[in-house]
Amino acid sequence: MLEGVFKSSILGKAQEKGIVSLNAVNFRDYSTSKHNTVDDTPYGGGGGMVLKPEPIFAAVEDVLNGQSGSARVILMCPQGETFTQAKAEELSTEEHLIFICGHYEGYDERIREHLVTDELSIGDYVLTGGELPAMVVIDSVARLLPGVLGNETSAVTDSFSTGLLEYPHYTRPAEFRGWKVPDMLLSGHHANIEAWRHEQALQRTLDRRPDLLNQAQLTDKDKKLLQKLKAQKITNPAD
Ligand code: SAM
Repeated sequence: MLEGVFKSSILGKAQEKGIVSLNAVNFRDYSTSKHNTVDDTPYGGGGGMVLKPEPIFAAVEDVLNGQSGSARVILMCPQGETFTQAKAEELSTEEHLIFICGHYEGYDERIREHLVTDELSIGDYVLTGGELPAMVVIDSVARLLPGVLGNETSAVTDSFSTGLLEYPHYTRPAEFRGWKVPDMLLSGHHANIEAWRHEQALQRTLDRRPDLLNQAQLTDKDKKLLQKLKAQKITNPAD
């Protein structure tokens, strides 16, 4: 499951270029029980199985011993801090990241208390396992590393990186089924295009995610522009 994602597309190329190294470890290999058991029934009764501490501690400690320097040990769980672009940027400055992917009902609480440095959730919903959430985090962190994205894709203007949603994009043809590309983008005037894109990003954020504007770093000019856009929205709510 992990290798398919690790080997394909941009993540695969990033590894070929030696920018990032991804390694999947099966904590079942660290079980000392006869049937390689990694879970058990919960103390106190109730449904579902709980991941045991021994194999997970052993797996993480083995990985930590095999590398230089410290590592962030991240528990993937719906109860963790919600993952954001800001968190991706923070994690992209780290040398080593270890992700623990759970299954079943939950983890023995001692894993949470004594092994991990972070707990991350990818959103307020519950999946069957931590692999998909870990891959989501790995993908978004890896694409921020220098050299991973080519010139054709850039993380700098991405939604959230600037604190705003990204402006709309258009490509050829200039007219499709009667729908035209905005004249400004065909004008060739780079400074005006830049200003138009910034205004569009403000407008889009105001329309779709006004909550982001509370955190975004806005200039006085942006604030004035937003007041104008908000006033237009009140006058023409359908726009
Ligand atoms: N009983 C747990 C609870 O209510 O918090 C949910 C366990 S879930 C079925 C099994 C595993 O999937 C979790 O241990 C975690 O690794 C992963 N998982 C599920 N939803 C997730 C989310 N939103 N973010 C991160 N990991 C998640």
